[in-house]
Amino acid sequence: MSNDDCLFCKIANKQITSNIVYEDEQIIAFKDIAPHMPVHIVLIPKLHIHGLNEITNESSVIVAHIVMMTKVLAIKFNIDTSGYRLISNCGHDAGQSVQHLHFHLLGGALMTNHFA
Ligand code: AMP
Ligand code: ZN
Repeated sequence: MSNDDCLFCKIANKQITSNIVYEDEQIIAFKDIAPHMPVHIVLIPKLHIHGLNEITNESSVIVAHIVMMTKVLAIKFNIDTSGYRLISNCGHDAGQSVQHLHFHLLGGALMTNHFA
């Protein structure tokens, strides 16, 4: 199900053009328009899920698929051995700006800011 007002639903259904690096029936991955790192890819489910809080048992299968594809994309962009991060911002304090579940794949340079 798609949300008419959602930017990432529009990217998923190609109403808005993006630089797609991977796509299958369930998910799509594209280059972030304002990259924070040399490699900055956004992975989303095609299904509209608001954010981490709205993941259900049913939709968690798609999230697992996103995590598996992260590994494949890390290999594709040659950051699998140098290292990378997978981040999902949830809600105001984390700075979630698009209300459609997404994961940032970041890599290609040393990250000095450790959050955990
Ligand atoms: P967040 O701040 O965690 O909600 O992440 C949203 C991300 O989407 C930001 O890093 C934006 O740069 C990125 N973004 C916004 N619009 C687009 C777009 N049209 N194409 C690609 N990335 C986008
Ligand atoms: Zn959406």
